Amino acid sequence: MTTHFHTCTLCEATCGIAVTVDGGRVLDIRGDEDDPFSRGYICPKATALADLQHDPDRLRRPLRRAGDTWHEVAWDEAFDLVGSRLREVRGRYGADAVAVYQGNPSAHNLGLLTYGQVLFRGLGTRNLFSATSVDQLPQMLASFLMLGNQVLLPVPDIDRTDLFVCLGANPAVSNGSIMTAPNVRARLKAIRARGGQVVVIDPRRTETAALADRHLFVRPGTDALLLLSIVNVLFAEDLIRLGRLARYVSGVDGLRSAAENFGPDVTFAATGVEPDDVRWLARSLADTPRAVLYGRVGTCTQEFGGLAAWLVLAINVLTGHLDEPGGPMFTTPAVDAVPLVAATRFRGSLGRWHSRVRGLPEFGGELPAAVLAEEIDTPGAGQIRALITSAGNPVLSTPNGARLERALPGLDFMVSIDPYLNETSRFADVILPPTVHLERSHYELALANYSVRNVAKYSPPVFEREPDQRHDWEICVELATRLLGRGSGVLAGALGRRLPPESLLDLWLRAGPYGLRRGLGGLSLSRLKKQPHGVDLGALEPRLPGRLGLRHRRIDLAPRTYLDDLPRLRGRLGASVAGLVLIGRRQLRSNNSWMHNSERLVKGKQRCTLLMHPDDAASRGLTDGDVASLSSAAGTIEVPVELTDAIMPGVVSLPHGWGHGRPGTRLGVAANHPGASINDVTDEHFVDALTGTAAFSGVPVRVDALVVNTTHLS
Ligand code: SF4
Repeated sequence: MTTHFHTCTLCEATCGIAVTVDGGRVLDIRGDEDDPFSRGYICPKATALADLQHDPDRLRRPLRRAGDTWHEVAWDEAFDLVGSRLREVRGRYGADAVAVYQGNPSAHNLGLLTYGQVLFRGLGTRNLFSATSVDQLPQMLASFLMLGNQVLLPVPDIDRTDLFVCLGANPAVSNGSIMTAPNVRARLKAIRARGGQVVVIDPRRTETAALADRHLFVRPGTDALLLLSIVNVLFAEDLIRLGRLARYVSGVDGLRSAAENFGPDVTFAATGVEPDDVRWLARSLADTPRAVLYGRVGTCTQEFGGLAAWLVLAINVLTGHLDEPGGPMFTTPAVDAVPLVAATRFRGSLGRWHSRVRGLPEFGGELPAAVLAEEIDTPGAGQIRALITSAGNPVLSTPNGARLERALPGLDFMVSIDPYLNETSRFADVILPPTVHLERSHYELALANYSVRNVAKYSPPVFEREPDQRHDWEICVELATRLLGRGSGVLAGALGRRLPPESLLDLWLRAGPYGLRRGLGGLSLSRLKKQPHGVDLGALEPRLPGRLGLRHRRIDLAPRTYLDDLPRLRGRLGASVAGLVLIGRRQLRSNNSWMHNSERLVKGKQRCTLLMHPDDAASRGLTDGDVASLSSAAGTIEVPVELTDAIMPGVVSLPHGWGHGRPGTRLGVAANHPGASINDVTDEHFVDALTGTAAFSGVPVRVDALVVNTTHLS
């Protein structure tokens, strides 16, 4: 019996875990008490890593489709087939005919962040898609336009703040996002214990709101209006405090003019936030020395997500909190993504090209996932003919997944790099299953850049992979050698053999801020390996102006891109909203569209319920537990209704990631707990027109009674 120290990477919190193994099986997973960052904390999902490891449904060898059946094939046969079919499509239709979709788990995966990008970016296709455009894209755009680098994202210094204002986020459940912070609940409680305040602004009184001093309802889709009215009050009441960074800030007058006609009395009708509450928010943010305004996914994935992300960052600058202790700060990670990205053309871009059918803009080399289905099912030059999915399940996670589901069978070829035969990969011709969490080593290359403390940790694999298993990066290198032509393909193969991801990591650690320049005691991979619980590299420290891009060297409060989008927002002021609107929600025992094949996570009462205010239910003849039909411009699903006054009247909420039980999947447990997919009713045409980001919050819907008192569904 042995105990291994590793990291849970199911969400961004990256908690340390102690995994006890006997005879090739996991006996126990606990929080690692000696992890200096998570200190023994884990949430219920961590223990489910054992279920993932031993899941009989998990694929271990490549599958090849033969009609409606699948059979295992050898890796070389699978690689050759994928290589020849994708080469054929590229040869006949051009590079853009092969699309790529990368899912959210890629962000935790050292192999996919290195050699995955060699393959996917190396294909030279304009049809690159990822979970970015159903999540944080607007925040990355704000960092690019205002600070000069799309990955220079500030992180709330939650452990030192005295005012945490949380908009469109539920960190008590998510454990932080672009705020890697194990045990957020304890960190929020600590704010109040030291005399500070937590304020939550959300259309739902969330689990985070339950821990807060104040909760304010805001109508879905109106965050930008609320934020602009806060800016208006800051200027009107002379509350601007630029502080230490004043000489680097430009665009103050432009922002003042932008907010001029958006006072709190004007925005109230649209947002539902009382003018006095807006003034209180503005004064509190300006007058609290250590304060942070934190906006996350709900703020991004709405009709005005681009503007909202801009204004969150702008308010933190106007109130003098950016880059100050207790405010939104920047990390000093052991491997620093900012200069790595700055050295490439991926430091940021918007609109270098547009999608073929609808003309939505590229961002950072990717197109919005909202156009993936139409780019497949709309005939014409430039149509997508083949698709590679990696660590993603876009049928369940992108807007109008039902349309994508109808479009995928029309592809000439599809390959999924995925450990499951899931709702998306069932349409593939070949599935290449990589190793999973406990079978591979781990270093948090990307998310250590967004951590509330500077930390570094390397974890070796808990289980040695079997000889005929492959890591993601090995799969990508094999495909690159077959697809990228003589020059790049040979180079990728040679690089992969000589410089596996861990060797790259060692180089980056040595070149990083804690590496060789600190002398012989500097950080390297071998030194990190001697610290199995990880190392704490200290609290966040002020990093500006040094971290601003050399070409930028300023904080631009009024980029033209945003000012030009304001007339669209002004139109929202007068728009009347009749009927109901839909928002999503995240759940502690759920991990986006996967991990529902773990019995311990899905057992118990039905969790895929539609939250509805009792007044809205009564007017439709619905009572608690009834099954209702939920319909939108995109489609109709049936869902059980759960009544609660924790949601605003006029708003309903359904969790995301459900909708299993579709034919052709191999997910035995999930099929018994299918739920309904919110993305069968979200609308691919309902996007933030500025960024192309999917607008999941505020989707107009209709709810009608179907069956009364169907208690068997609970
Ligand atoms: S919060 Fe839960 S899912 Fe997230 S890393 Fe920690 S244990 Fe894993």
